[in-house]
Amino acid sequence: MNNKKNNSSATQITRAYIILLTTLMIIVSFATIFVVGLHLVHNKRDDAEQLTTVLKTSFSDYKPDWDYWRDTASINPHNTFVRVTVVPDSGKVRHFYSHRTRKFLRDDFENRPLLKNIQIQTDQGIFYHVKTSERWKHSRVTYEIWLSLNNVVELFKLIIVVVISVMAFGLLIGISAISVLARKLNAPLERLTTATQKINDADTSTHHETLPVPAGPQEVTDLSIEFNRLLTSLNNQVLRDHQFVSDASHELRTPLAAIRGHINLIRRHGNTHPEIVQPSLSTIDTESIRMQHLIDSLLQLSRMDHAELEKQRVLLNDIVQRVADNYHEQLNRELVVNAPHPVHAMVHAESITQMLVALIDNANKYAPGDTPITINLFADSHAVIEVADLGPGISDGAKAHIFDRFYRADTSRSHKIDGSGLGLAIVARLADLNGGAVHVRDNQPQGSVFSLILPIIK
Ligand code: ADP
Repeated sequence: MNNKKNNSSATQITRAYIILLTTLMIIVSFATIFVVGLHLVHNKRDDAEQLTTVLKTSFSDYKPDWDYWRDTASINPHNTFVRVTVVPDSGKVRHFYSHRTRKFLRDDFENRPLLKNIQIQTDQGIFYHVKTSERWKHSRVTYEIWLSLNNVVELFKLIIVVVISVMAFGLLIGISAISVLARKLNAPLERLTTATQKINDADTSTHHETLPVPAGPQEVTDLSIEFNRLLTSLNNQVLRDHQFVSDASHELRTPLAAIRGHINLIRRHGNTHPEIVQPSLSTIDTESIRMQHLIDSLLQLSRMDHAELEKQRVLLNDIVQRVADNYHEQLNRELVVNAPHPVHAMVHAESITQMLVALIDNANKYAPGDTPITINLFADSHAVIEVADLGPGISDGAKAHIFDRFYRADTSRSHKIDGSGLGLAIVARLADLNGGAVHVRDNQPQGSVFSLILPIIK
């Protein structure tokens, strides 16, 4: 739970904000200190140069004119110190000090070079030190000036304090604002999680559950809409599967009941009435064949859920002709083939044969025996194979369902004809696996036309 909290987007956003703000503040304070410091040190250097110039002008008779110098150079004896050293070519070295300089240099004097020209003087602070020398009347004169940088250091301290205060204030305000915002943004996600948990933890499922769709933020709204679509699609799949299993059991129950009935009949009366054995056995045989067909179809449908067909270039005229030749005899009726032009398609040849046989088989089952069946093969934007009959046709209401598993049109004729309601479902699935489709429409003047639409190769 703790780990979850540490990983929550609110924590992550807050952490990112703290890192960002701290980095920004550090960069800003370093940049400010650098720029201000550079500027101030430059100023000090200019001051020192000005002082040196004035000092040189005021230097006469081997001794600096401190009064003139102090007046013209506006020197502050508390933070500016000057030493002039005169080394004659022959004779004694002489030192001249400005007011308080002797004491400044003597006072626990420890000269620690820090940067070039920057020195730290214990008890007195940081100084900018400039040293120049020149030849003057048989002597070498060295001018040394120390300018206090203590006010600069104070300014730096102030900048750091201000930056830290701003940062602390920014963090305080920012963190509370961000955690409020993050919580607000997270609330719909948390509600979504709770709703999902509720569905997961429920003992039973109606398969109609949906998640709440929050009004915002947009991403979460989109996410819950997409989740709901997924949920609906999965639920529909589950409901379809339930329906399929229950329909399959129902369909299997009928032949099973017939088989069991006849077995009981033989058991009870077979000895006393041997004449019933043969008809009962033939019924058992027919019903078991029906069951066998049903199970084969169910297996095929279930395998096709995960199947992928290997497609290749096929001349559909060959398939149509071969099927017509093979089935012509069995049909006992006229089978007309119209395939005037060669049509090539990218399909799985065996499955095309299977679909065609199923459609011809249906036409043969449902259309009266003296009517012809017609197969048309032609090309438009797709390759099209039509199987047309002059049978009873299919009502508009039934057209919407005939490709559903186990659907059988509720007509008196359909009831008399043996079937499982799986044939057209298999055709539709095979058409889909071939990248095509199957449609039905009314034939003229009567009957139905089933069209297989397949991917053409031109
Ligand atoms: P089955 O033929 O085993 O019942 P199908 O899936 O092949 O199952 O067909 C579903 C239903 O569609 C059939 O029960 C029948 O009512 C209707 N049907 C299919 N083909 C035709 C056809 N050529 N003419 C009239 N009705 C048809």
